[in-house]
Amino acid sequence: MKKETQIISVGRDKKWTKGVINPPVFRASTMVFDTMEEMRFATKNRANGEMFYGRRGGPTHFAFQAAIAELEGGSGTALYPSGSAAISGALLSFLKSGDHLLMVDSAYEPTRDLCNKLLAGFGIETTYYDPMIGEGIAELIKPNTKVLFLESPGSVTMEIQDVPTLSAIAHQHGLIVMLDNTWASPINSRPFDMGVDISIQAATKYIVGHSDVMLGTATSIDTHWEQLRENSYLMGQCTSPDDVYLASRGLRTLGVRMQQHEQNALKVANWLATRPEVDHLRHPAFETCPGHEFFKRDFSGSNGLFSFVLKEGNLKSVTAFVENMDHFKMGFSWGGFESLILGVFGIDKIRTVTSWDSSKPLIRLHIGLENADDLIADLEAGFERFNAELTR
Ligand SMILES: *Cc1c(COP(=O)(O)O)cnc(C)c1O
Repeated sequence: MKKETQIISVGRDKKWTKGVINPPVFRASTMVFDTMEEMRFATKNRANGEMFYGRRGGPTHFAFQAAIAELEGGSGTALYPSGSAAISGALLSFLKSGDHLLMVDSAYEPTRDLCNKLLAGFGIETTYYDPMIGEGIAELIKPNTKVLFLESPGSVTMEIQDVPTLSAIAHQHGLIVMLDNTWASPINSRPFDMGVDISIQAATKYIVGHSDVMLGTATSIDTHWEQLRENSYLMGQCTSPDDVYLASRGLRTLGVRMQQHEQNALKVANWLATRPEVDHLRHPAFETCPGHEFFKRDFSGSNGLFSFVLKEGNLKSVTAFVENMDHFKMGFSWGGFESLILGVFGIDKIRTVTSWDSSKPLIRLHIGLENADDLIADLEAGFERFNAELTR
């Protein structure tokens, strides 16, 4: 079955929906029982779909958890109030004092901060590795290494990792492999077929798809599911049924939205590739993106998020470019229906084992669902402002 077909039916078990189409909002903290026997039954089955207490979730959550687990291809999905909480929730469920973590150098900046600040304070040591390290990862594994963390493509610079090779080596040494799979969303890659043990989504992005909810998911293979679920529960991680409802609603159109984001972005990227100001594209579907061969092998499509590097420029000229756009707005995050633009500076400061030439400015785009020609016209005007500022 194709993913577009699957997302229509996943998580819509009548047990949770009572027959309506989309799983409705079911708000609850307390659940009351008439008999000791009912209470015992709920307690015994609290981790497999029986209402027990609000923090364990209710039908809205169970339906969405089942949907994501099935789409990602894992055994179970834990929910978190943000993508960042899913990352910290997964890491803290498996790491303890004295453990060593291998973290990709191109990780989402708050993930790096989590390692450098919080995990370091807990006595968990992090070693960063080059996203393109491949088999070289073996040399960085120590006796106390517990987790290999991947993010593919990398944040902002978009390097695509050789996930199957890295996972295979990690497993030879008994490591748990975690992947921030947000860019692929649950439909453009098969993380568990590539050896990943825990796949993380910032559902805030394409799953929700409307820039109005924060939510995260971590989906595990059977071996680690109980530990992930129970430790996240111990940390008090829970989510609002209203937010989960919106994510579940957004999910149904993920297939068509992704196709449109992809087509629009490819049109814009192809146009950018012809611009004299552009040094190269950091779009996984283009050969100029490190790891492009792994994109072709491991992904079934791209989306609206990519970056491009300019041949020259400075804060002033890039500011002239990104300010005063008609359709692109400046903002963090991505994955909604709207286009976003970001001039990213200081990338060299959030890389430790790879280098980045900060004399060439990088601009990150999220291409929304507007007509691509309108977006191109907007960027064209941006280049005019950029060039005028450069030659001033
Ligand atoms: C946005 C993002 C996150 C964090 O998600 P939040 O819901 O904003 O906490 C994590 N990883 C990647 C790759 C992201 O883009």
